[in-house]
Amino acid sequence: MSTISESLQTAYTRLRQAELSAQRTSESVTLLAVSKTKPVEQLRAAYASGQRQFGENYLQEALEKIAELNDLEDLIWHFIGPIQSNKTKLIAESFEWVHTVCREKIANRLNDQRPDNMPPLNVCIQVNISGEASKSGATLKEVESLAELINQKPQLKLRGVMAIPENTGDHEKLAAQFIKLSDCFDTLKNKYADIDTLSVGMSQDLELAVQHGSTMVRLGTAIFGSRDNK
Ligand SMILES: *Cc1c(COP(=O)(O)O)cnc(C)c1O
Repeated sequence: MSTISESLQTAYTRLRQAELSAQRTSESVTLLAVSKTKPVEQLRAAYASGQRQFGENYLQEALEKIAELNDLEDLIWHFIGPIQSNKTKLIAESFEWVHTVCREKIANRLNDQRPDNMPPLNVCIQVNISGEASKSGATLKEVESLAELINQKPQLKLRGVMAIPENTGDHEKLAAQFIKLSDCFDTLKNKYADIDTLSVGMSQDLELAVQHGSTMVRLGTAIFGSRDNK
């Protein structure tokens, strides 16, 4: 089994290769290390290898890790899990980024609960690009009004869109979903000043995502191995 340091290095090499193949500028894509279910020792190992940005899905687990790692001052925490409205306060107080905003009610609460002494919370709108009923995310149609609302909130900073494409081997279907997402990203970018983040691409589909304009890939298994049971 390889160490976290080795897997991380392999993941960065893969990402730089994907940028090159897609004729993208080197280091134009950020790597978010998705550490859900993984113990803090593994996050420390990733930190020691230079990783600073981490993504977590489960709030309670994330809060424990944030507390245990508070000696590492330059960590940047991203919340990438589904958001229940009774959890918004803790998210607003503990994270720098939230990738999974898909309803107005959640955006309103995050803005109101973001402490005044903290910088605005960086927000991506989660878009349901596959149209699967089981997936959360705003529809492409809903993105426009939700973006307008977020843009007016002083304690939120709209940075872009996020999606989890369908888990399918159908390459054309998948590519069509990536294209829809990057079109949506471009539309927002033309309209709002701070849009620079297209959060898409996981361990399986990193190359395709980078080919379709991803600026932030979220890698779990590729760095930490398969998920531990919770
Ligand atoms: C778990 C998870 C990831 C990482 O997935 P891997 O396939 O392990 O790379 C990325 N994004 C979200 C939203 C996740 O829940």
